[in-house]
Amino acid sequence: MTAPQGVAAWAEVDLAAIRSNTATLRNASGVDVMAVVKADAYGHGLIESARAAREGGATWLGTAFVNEALALRAAGDEGLLLAWLHPQGADLSGAMSANIDVSVSSVQLLGQVIDAARAVGRVARVHLKADSGLSRGGASSSEWDELVALAVRAQRSGAIEIVALWSHVAFGDEPFHPAVDAQAGAFDRACSAAASAGVGDVLRHFSSSGPALRRPDLAFDIVRPGLAVYGLSPGAAVGEASELGLRPAMTLRSTVAQVKSVEAGVGVSYSYRYTTAQATRLALIPIGYADGIPRAATNQGPLLVGGQRTQIAGTVCMDQVVVDLGPQSSVSVGDEVVVFGDGIDGAPTAADWAHASGTIVYEIITRIGPRVARVYVDDAQR
Ligand SMILES: *Cc1c(COP(=O)(O)O)cnc(C)c1O
Repeated sequence: MTAPQGVAAWAEVDLAAIRSNTATLRNASGVDVMAVVKADAYGHGLIESARAAREGGATWLGTAFVNEALALRAAGDEGLLLAWLHPQGADLSGAMSANIDVSVSSVQLLGQVIDAARAVGRVARVHLKADSGLSRGGASSSEWDELVALAVRAQRSGAIEIVALWSHVAFGDEPFHPAVDAQAGAFDRACSAAASAGVGDVLRHFSSSGPALRRPDLAFDIVRPGLAVYGLSPGAAVGEASELGLRPAMTLRSTVAQVKSVEAGVGVSYSYRYTTAQATRLALIPIGYADGIPRAATNQGPLLVGGQRTQIAGTVCMDQVVVDLGPQSSVSVGDEVVVFGDGIDGAPTAADWAHASGTIVYEIITRIGPRVARVYVDDAQR
């Protein structure tokens, strides 16, 4: 893989992996997949990733915000599409005009959705969200009955169509945690209450990546995975990505910008958090915290530099990091650097970076900055 001209670092995204992972999720869950493409498809690029997920069999796409969903429509996506997080001033009328389903978590929001639909002469397609125990979005159990009753009335008046009932799990990274089952039970009860209140035969969705992969018993009608679409596992309790049949879609790459010899005992990078133990060769890699390399990876972050496995020496800077190659290294300017990838070629993985930085893989991939070019490949051969 050669560098795009003049680009310091680039994220190579394998669209074949996204297609394959989507198909794997369909098979593992046994139901339809809503591929979650919020946050620029977890840093992989919204439009291209969404297209690949559709090709891999995603009948639905999910975004956090209406703006993200509108960007998909502007790019020509015409499929089923849900946006679930509505900040003050969200373009709900725009969502309705563009046939985007919206989640409703409160009586107040239901009123706004009805008004927005009326303003553009559309029937709002609504997914009613129950808080089954995450205590984040969703209607709490005390508000659920009122929300459902008002939604049924709005449906009868022709203002909205209730498309689905849904909820979200707190332990997506531990699909066998008892809280997952407790939440599924609470969600079941919320669905029963909705049925009693006159909500007809609607769709139900509950599971993010972890349960989508490991709990087909909780798949309901649609699963809602994000991370696994991009080929990564939410955590050890879910399993290793390769064992789950997932292929990491992103390889973060750079090239060596400078190599030089230094003496023993010199301080390296800001604040001298690393000191050379011997006369050695240092290499400069032009990627830093502005590009998503966590500063917490100072003296820790693993890299494959010219085929040599090494790690960051000293402080992560805004635009660059330094590695200590050792005195014998033959690495030279222009050599390939893999920050993380699928790990098959000995390069670090996003999980290695999460470990080295005290965070989770979600944060590693979604924080890749705008300076990092996204380069799409379609490697069906792997
Ligand atoms: C982000 C998100 C998902 C996807 O979660 P993963 O753990 O990435 O699979 C699903 N549902 C909701 C509501 C989310 O916010």
